[in-house]
Amino acid sequence: MTDIAIHTEGLTKHYGEVHALVDLDLDVRTGEVFGFLGPNGAGKTTTIRTLMDEIRPTAGKASILGMDTHTESVQIRRHIGYVPGDLAMYPNLTGQDTLTYFANLRGGVDWGYVDTLADRLDADLSKKVGDLSSGNRQKVGLIQAFMNRPQVLMMDEPSSGLDPLVQREFQTMMREVAAEGRTVFLSSHTLSEVQRVADRVGIIRHGHLIALEGVSELRSKAIRRVELDFTSPVEASVFAAVPGVRDVEIENHRAVLSYDGQMAALLKTVADRYDVVDIHTQEADLEEIFLTYYRDEARDVAEVTA
Ligand code: ATP
Repeated sequence: MTDIAIHTEGLTKHYGEVHALVDLDLDVRTGEVFGFLGPNGAGKTTTIRTLMDEIRPTAGKASILGMDTHTESVQIRRHIGYVPGDLAMYPNLTGQDTLTYFANLRGGVDWGYVDTLADRLDADLSKKVGDLSSGNRQKVGLIQAFMNRPQVLMMDEPSSGLDPLVQREFQTMMREVAAEGRTVFLSSHTLSEVQRVADRVGIIRHGHLIALEGVSELRSKAIRRVELDFTSPVEASVFAAVPGVRDVEIENHRAVLSYDGQMAALLKTVADRYDVVDIHTQEADLEEIFLTYYRDEARDVAEVTA
């Protein structure tokens, strides 16, 4: 069995003038949770719909489990659980009937496992789907994706509308899938979720993949918020001159800044000039790391596409 679950080469999709996806080269490894992160309109849905052969790429190609996403899409479907961004369900069917419908399409299902999934997600399968809130409807969509224990779970912003407790359980379920050697492709615009659940993260913006990192590597970029207090007033230029320092704010005897370098280098420079009274540092969350990427990389993308 291949250790690459999803592979894309130069995958590109234009809608007229809109370059929704540009030259995506990506390998998602078997047994990982891959977070596909980007703001609204970044190209996440376009990528997933192309992989699912719902839309044809303008250029490039892709494979899932070694099979071509276009010519072998029928075979691929047997191994995929899919949560689209806009799952269509019959409003007059109950959740149970809906799942029966999907189960019949796939030649049966382990109903004991369906009950377990419903319990874990706190889903009410007795109500008509049309009478459910969007979050509760989403749970039915998640169960239909998980219930056949697929090799690959392809999910487009699956947590939308779920309350925090259910989100946590859902995250645990995704980790279990990966622990079993199955693969999760999770599109999301929620950093905290991806931070908790993903092994690696691809960041997409304006159709371009602008970063591809392990979650731990992303964190080890270790941007820190640093607050320093001094015995006398300080000048921003002293801090700004240290490589890795950014966003310096000075308030009389105090400096607050972001820093992604060796702490010793920063401390030596400032201690040569001022008497340090107190230091407080805090690891930046992924949000800040993400914004930093966006600020720098978005400029590059703008220059390339200008
Ligand atoms: P969201 O979280 O809002 O769904 P996304 O990252 O999934 O965002 P896409 O839906 O893939 O983004 O959209 C990427 C770009 O392609 C956007 O600019 C969008 O307006 C455009 N787009 C998507 N579908 C079409 C279409 N059928 N026709 C024209 N433009 C489209």
